[in-house]
Amino acid sequence: MLLELFPSLFALVIEEVERRPEQVVLRTRVRAVTAECRCGWSSARVHGRYVRELRDVAVGGLGVVIEILIRRFRCENTACPAVTFAEQITGLTTPHSRQTPLLRGVLKTDRAGPGRPGRSPPGLRGRHHCGQGRTVATCQGPARAGS
Ligand SMILES: [Zn+2]
Repeated sequence: MLLELFPSLFALVIEEVERRPEQVVLRTRVRAVTAECRCGWSSARVHGRYVRELRDVAVGGLGVVIEILIRRFRCENTACPAVTFAEQITGLTTPHSRQTPLLRGVLKTDRAGPGRPGRSPPGLRGRHHCGQGRTVATCQGPARAGS
């Protein structure tokens, strides 16, 4: 059901849905066991994990936040300059992005609209923004220690 609402999350397992007063938070992890480094080598050696937060388009007037438990892998290619790398989810994440491609598209269209510079989609207006913190722990709510 959830994947029917959020088809762009097919690569993720949605583990929990939290309804907050003005937003819905989807807690997810990546389905795949391995990830591919920039050098093209695949790795299953997990070096660490952190929670990454992406904002998505609003649903039913509620802002949508996707929390992804991102794994950092150790690259086993001795010729690779990247000792470790964070997994990226094709079609969903790019390095340092804080929004889904879908939301970026909506915001770009919105900005380009006549007389409506930079408006946020419904459900995201007037919302607490987390700044540029990298994990949810730096942003809001209790830290999820040990994850
Ligand atoms: Zn590599």
